[in-house]
Amino acid sequence: MPVIRANVLGMCFGVRDALTAMRAIDAPQSVTIHGELVHNEVVLHQLRVRGFGMVGEAERDALPATPRVLVTAHGISDRERRRLTDAGKTLIDTTCPLVKRVHAAAMKFAAAGFHLIVVGKPGHVEVRGIVEDVPSHDVVPSVAAVRTYAAARLGVVCQSTTPPELAASVVAEIRRRNPHAEVNYTDTICRPTRDHQRALAELLPRVEAVVVVGGRNSNNTVELARRVVDFGLPACHVVGPDDLDADWVTRFERVGLTAGTSTLAETVDAVERRLEGMLSADDSSGACRIRTGNQSVMSGLL
Ligand code: SF4
Repeated sequence: MPVIRANVLGMCFGVRDALTAMRAIDAPQSVTIHGELVHNEVVLHQLRVRGFGMVGEAERDALPATPRVLVTAHGISDRERRRLTDAGKTLIDTTCPLVKRVHAAAMKFAAAGFHLIVVGKPGHVEVRGIVEDVPSHDVVPSVAAVRTYAAARLGVVCQSTTPPELAASVVAEIRRRNPHAEVNYTDTICRPTRDHQRALAELLPRVEAVVVVGGRNSNNTVELARRVVDFGLPACHVVGPDDLDADWVTRFERVGLTAGTSTLAETVDAVERRLEGMLSADDSSGACRIRTGNQSVMSGLL
């Protein structure tokens, strides 16, 4: 069996439920998706073809022209919600329940007078939704970014797709740098993210290289590829089967396959079929345009 799948891979329930809700929407031309529904080019293309309006995540400050606005699984702040409804927009809310859990934990800390610290990527759409309602906050993407905070009480939550090891190291560093403060941590990493990463860890010792399928802007897909590289194996991040390079693939006898939480099952299947074709015959079509070797840094993919 030359291609070995991770036991858990691909689309999570949060994205699947959002897509199911989209399918039930009539008159898509009257709906603007407020940012990228998912960080997956294939899915976004399908929605565009159906007629949905879309604004990029960086252009959300302008009011959408349509009467209905779809809130993505990444969620938005209450402040943003009010801005849209005050302008007469009807909201279709597909916020993932596990993102709502992060918001609830953050608001609980804020209400109790804690300074909020979010472990996550500054400016990421989910993180923006979490912090916009909380005046006293910091966003910390790495251990190196942790500092000493003036507040006596620090409440820590995570962006839902944060690697558990990163969250643990950041919390430990916050405690080390702030011995004067009460540090209270609520683990808000979502279960699908944990399951994908655990399944990849089980896969890695069984293969020589791993193909990771998912959108170029997908945080959790990039994280999966980074884990492969950190383990010491070559990783190839592809959006679809056409990104595969037969010359690269055929250097290996056993190739692992995993996929980010916004990747369609049909895309994973198509990549698997192409991989199997390459490994069992001389299929030299395609080009691996997003490839990583044994490097610990994958610049350009984050
Ligand atoms: S990755 Fe996690 S938080 Fe994000 S949509 Fe999926 S289940 Fe929800």
